[in-house]
Amino acid sequence: MFESVQAAPADPILGLTDAFRADPNPNKINLGVGVYQDSNGKTPALKCIQRATQWIAQAKTASSYLPIPGLAEYTAAVQQLAFGESHEVVTEGRAFTAQTPGGTGALRVVGDFLAQNFAGTTLWITDPTWANHANIFTAAGVSLAKLPYFDKATNSLAFGELIEALGKIPAGDAVLLHGCCHNPTGVDPTQEQWSQIADVMYAQKLLPILDFAYQGFGDGIEEDAVGLRTMAREGAELIVCSSFSKNFGLYNQRVGASTFVCADADRAKVVGSQVKRAIRSNYSNPPAHGARLVATVLADEALREEWHTELTRMRNRINGMRVLLVSKLKEKGVEGDFSFIERQRGMFSFSGLTKDQVLALREKHAIYIVDSGRINVAGITEVNVDRLTEAIADVVG
Ligand code: PMP
Repeated sequence: MFESVQAAPADPILGLTDAFRADPNPNKINLGVGVYQDSNGKTPALKCIQRATQWIAQAKTASSYLPIPGLAEYTAAVQQLAFGESHEVVTEGRAFTAQTPGGTGALRVVGDFLAQNFAGTTLWITDPTWANHANIFTAAGVSLAKLPYFDKATNSLAFGELIEALGKIPAGDAVLLHGCCHNPTGVDPTQEQWSQIADVMYAQKLLPILDFAYQGFGDGIEEDAVGLRTMAREGAELIVCSSFSKNFGLYNQRVGASTFVCADADRAKVVGSQVKRAIRSNYSNPPAHGARLVATVLADEALREEWHTELTRMRNRINGMRVLLVSKLKEKGVEGDFSFIERQRGMFSFSGLTKDQVLALREKHAIYIVDSGRINVAGITEVNVDRLTEAIADVVG
């Protein structure tokens, strides 16, 4: 049987990491994969998580299965973090949250839920979007269509085109937006724009799905939730896919959640029963450790405070590197206005580098960037920024 299997194409981003690892150049720079790095180029283990790990080890928790939707204290904390403790969505109990294996697992659960309950629904994704979105929803059997999002000429949100396109989507379709820190562009709507997006989407009877993988990486924990809180109008339905890979540094623990916001608590139970059904036939129930870590940090005032401090440090470093990159590009004489990089948010920036320039950076300078020109700003350090910007000056010409 296996003789007939064709080799699958390499994942463009993970394949880049393999090429980076194999490169013998001691001065190589990896701005490809989306993992936070500190000023020494290391991905830190957060102190709050180390402390929570010790607490959990001492507590000797049982290793029996978790319920299908995961740890109750974790799913409650997820809702509070996303919406705020006193938000009507939380206090009315009109949301159902399932703990999932990472943000990817959250998206897949939503894909299965859509395919099983709304056959024929099209999911609209932004152009561009995180490359795995299409893989995940296609694998679940959901058909996809693209929405204009990014204006290359101005390196900003193509807001007019987005609103116009949303206004033409048939009722009953779903739309996947990024809650904050859009991957790959780094370009997000303003609060006022979110409000207009909500107006059009609810007038059109569309289901908003918000991929929320970077809370706290843009402008702050509360600030980054503005989009989804603006969408969560009274009685309105929406879905939020959370990931704690980045903001808790828990990449390999696979900690995420899907939250289905329904009209009322009764609907949330019914919808929840279908979500549980989707999970049961996928991975049955989620792993416990990572969710326990997040729940432990969020439940303890001192640990939560420590998390805020560590998250703020990561955010400030990324935003600081944006400013440094722009000033160094200028210093090295690279032509053009790169100030848009300072306005983008999150770990990524659409640099505007062409595919040929990206390839030249890789081959001539051992600098690894995704073909689209998306750079991981967290891969920039005070140490490598001169080499990086000199190389960009060289390939841009
Ligand atoms: N959504 C977006 C926009 C992402 O960038 C990522 C991570 N690269 C995910 C979801 C998935 O997160 P996780 O690693 O938790 O599966």
